[in-house]
Amino acid sequence: MEKVNCDILIVGDGPAGGVSAVTARMNYPEKKILVVREFEEQLVPCAIPYVFGETLGSTDKNIVPCGARVDMGISSMVAKVLDLDINTKVAYTTASAISFDKLIFATGSKPFIHDSLRHALVLDGVFTIAKNKEIIDKAKNYLEDKQNVVVVGTGFIGVEMAVELATSGKNVTIVGGSKHILKGSFDSEIAAQAEEILVSKGVVFIGSDRVVEVIDNNGDNIVNGVKLKSGIVIDADVVILATGYKPNTELAQKVGVSLGHYGGIWVDEYMRTENHDIFAVGDCSARRTFLTKVPSKVMLASTSSAEGRVAGSSLYGLKYIKGFTGTIAIFSTMIGDIAFSSVGVSEDEAQEAGVDVVIGSFSGMNRHPASIPDAQKQFVKLIVTRNGGQILGGQIVGGSETGEMINIIGLMIETGLSVYKARSMQVATHPMLTAAPTNYPIVMAAIKAIKQIEQRQK
Ligand SMILES: Cc1cc2nc3c(=O)[nH]c(=O)nc-3n(C[C@H](O)[C@H](O)[C@H](O)COP(=O)(O)OP(=O)(O)OC[C@H]3O[C@@H](n4cnc5c(N)ncnc54)[C@H](O)[C@@H]3O)c2cc1C
Repeated sequence: MEKVNCDILIVGDGPAGGVSAVTARMNYPEKKILVVREFEEQLVPCAIPYVFGETLGSTDKNIVPCGARVDMGISSMVAKVLDLDINTKVAYTTASAISFDKLIFATGSKPFIHDSLRHALVLDGVFTIAKNKEIIDKAKNYLEDKQNVVVVGTGFIGVEMAVELATSGKNVTIVGGSKHILKGSFDSEIAAQAEEILVSKGVVFIGSDRVVEVIDNNGDNIVNGVKLKSGIVIDADVVILATGYKPNTELAQKVGVSLGHYGGIWVDEYMRTENHDIFAVGDCSARRTFLTKVPSKVMLASTSSAEGRVAGSSLYGLKYIKGFTGTIAIFSTMIGDIAFSSVGVSEDEAQEAGVDVVIGSFSGMNRHPASIPDAQKQFVKLIVTRNGGQILGGQIVGGSETGEMINIIGLMIETGLSVYKARSMQVATHPMLTAAPTNYPIVMAAIKAIKQIEQRQK
């Protein structure tokens, strides 16, 4: 078997592996970096739902470009890493043996299917949303002449799939175990707004129920529908299981790397495993929340990229003191023309955890004056500690700008900014681009939260 040498070996080429490689190149220009990935073409995972409708229309339009990395002198290899000898520092792949000095696991995640639905995986017409071009192409082709689709799971991937398929003319039903969609990320009043848009797009939403059986009436291994816990039966030509993801840690387990909670690889703040020559980043690592440090199941490309930046600069000693201190679970989605963004702790979560919070919320317009063409409503909600006014979470509903506005709130959370500082925050505004400076929604929501704190103190 051919043997290849490198200094830094990165197993996996999703957002976490890619960012780790680029960061390592910037920090250690003299080191030889090799990224190994299983498949020639790597999909942009976040845009997979948009392959199914007219937005992208094809996986060919959703491939991660690698050109810039080649220019930076980062090598890539298409192969699967099958085994590792951690003592002699050699990886054995389907293509060659690779000797390394430092290794980063960036092996990502795989669709999670509850045991009760595993029987469905052998049926034609049942698909998961794997980050794999071949599987996505197969699902897309299969869907081509089918009409009735059931999406199982009301997280953001299930919702995005449902809207995209309904918009392209399919009859779509989405089923979830909780009362509202996007549970955990949005409080019920905001999730209800998202549901209204979902339904207006033609999607049938069934909450507080769950699929207990995927039906193959004829015994021909072709799906015909699903049965719900309530007894309802829904006919389906295609069933999409969007029931979450689990860390892909087969390789790590095989070579004895310790796991943490929820099956992720145990890492410290600098993404080091117990062996400081071995790191883990992205969905394959065990995560904690930023605020309370409790185990987290959040799997996001944004979190994975941040972890890649920490690992990529900590390989040969701790270059920056700030490590990765937990996920703030920041993300955005579009439902129809409306964007929904969320970060940190929701009001429901804060209450469940017994945290004494006040809410500051503000509704306005995203342009000024409101008569500017295409101006849209904008709503900001801040979840704030009563003592000290620290911002714990935020939710925004509005136009596409919410995707960036939520990042402002994310930074406020990460830097421990209070509403007292946020109330006099300076913002750039322009009629065609933003809300009015006099009514900037994040500032106004902070002011409303301060009012709440003061009222309770009286
Ligand atoms: C449909 C969908 C939509 C999403 N939308 C968003 C979004 O809008 N925003 C957001 O922040 N996140 C989103 N996510 C989540 C995000 O995609 C993941 O959090 C992210 O992909 C994790 O990155 P990663 O690099 O850790 O792992 P992955 O992207 O899973 O990549 C893992 C890599 O490891 C490789 N690999 C695994 N095992 C081996 C091996 N033994 N040998 C060699 N290579 C191996 C794989 O081939 C792959 O290259 C979405 C996910 C999906 C599925």
